[in-house]
Amino acid sequence: MTIKIRKPKNKVYKAPTGPGYKPGVFSRSETQAYRDATEGKSIDKFYDPQRDGVTFSLLSTFLDCREKARFYLQGWTPTSSSMALTFGSIVHKIDEWVRDSIRSGKLKEVPSKQYIKDLIHDVEKLWHKDNPRAGKRELEHLELSLLLAEGVMPRYFQYWYKDFSDLRWEKVEGVFKVPYTVKDRKGNNHETFLRGKIDGSFRMKKGGPWLFETKTKSRIDEEILADILPFEMQANIYLSVLRRIDKKTPSGLLYNIIRRPGLRQRKNESIKAFANRIEEDVGERPDWYFVRMEMSVDEAEIDRFELGLEDLISDFLLWWSGNSGHYKNTNHCQNKFGLCPFVGICLRNDKANYFKRKTVFRELQEW
Ligand code: SF4
Repeated sequence: MTIKIRKPKNKVYKAPTGPGYKPGVFSRSETQAYRDATEGKSIDKFYDPQRDGVTFSLLSTFLDCREKARFYLQGWTPTSSSMALTFGSIVHKIDEWVRDSIRSGKLKEVPSKQYIKDLIHDVEKLWHKDNPRAGKRELEHLELSLLLAEGVMPRYFQYWYKDFSDLRWEKVEGVFKVPYTVKDRKGNNHETFLRGKIDGSFRMKKGGPWLFETKTKSRIDEEILADILPFEMQANIYLSVLRRIDKKTPSGLLYNIIRRPGLRQRKNESIKAFANRIEEDVGERPDWYFVRMEMSVDEAEIDRFELGLEDLISDFLLWWSGNSGHYKNTNHCQNKFGLCPFVGICLRNDKANYFKRKTVFRELQEW
């Protein structure tokens, strides 16, 4: 079969078929090899659910596409990173450090611009340590993200100045592990644990604990967000875990959104002038950049969510142990975030832009 692509130059693309074609990285025999291995023959596993657990990000990858989850669990990692991810990680880290300093009493007022600048410098060092093989594109993303953070973060803390006086911070990047056991049809147990880090929790002068969850986004549609927030998996996982830790139903969720500026550096504009322009824009319309949504929480809703979560973890464990089917979700190859990051390796068996990472869950590392 040939498919003609009319743009840009009537390129002819040969669809991968016929005797020479390797259908992706995982053939039937490889699937069988994994099953054999889990039935007693020992192999050095990169991932083991009992040893490594499951995270929100793994479960949502599994929901996206089982093939994608397999690549991920074999350690395959795209060498390129997105601008959204770089900016999000930097902002999260600075927010975490500031909140931790408030909690420990080291910081009692809105941090100065110089204070944030020093944190940005520390975050840059951490990023380089964690990304020793970053290429030109990644370094460009880093440079722009640091610049955006310098323009946004001082204003952000000024805008939410009451965080420093009215909220009592309890958990900042609190790590959790919740055990799960599932039985397959033959009666065998499959064990794992749900793990992750909560952005933060706090109490106001009155009432129970609140979950604090931060997101960075370039687009914010408040109406759509308000509709889907009660069903958001990550927030619900954290609410459920917070209920276990505090032995009390949380009073609510404070969903904290920081908008990623869409401004571009002009031709001949110096970095300093660009940073100033971002800061001015944020200062002129802070309510456009910083949005918070409060959601009250009902005990029965957390109960209902936990039932669904148990089913999802059960599906994952049965799939991983070879007790349920494996298939590709080709509806996800192109999705609202763009292309699936595994398109190259999955559809063309091209490993050039991937490497095998050493740790299973990079999101749980220091960075
Ligand atoms: S390219 Fe498509 S089929 Fe392959 S892993 Fe990604 S979503 Fe799944």
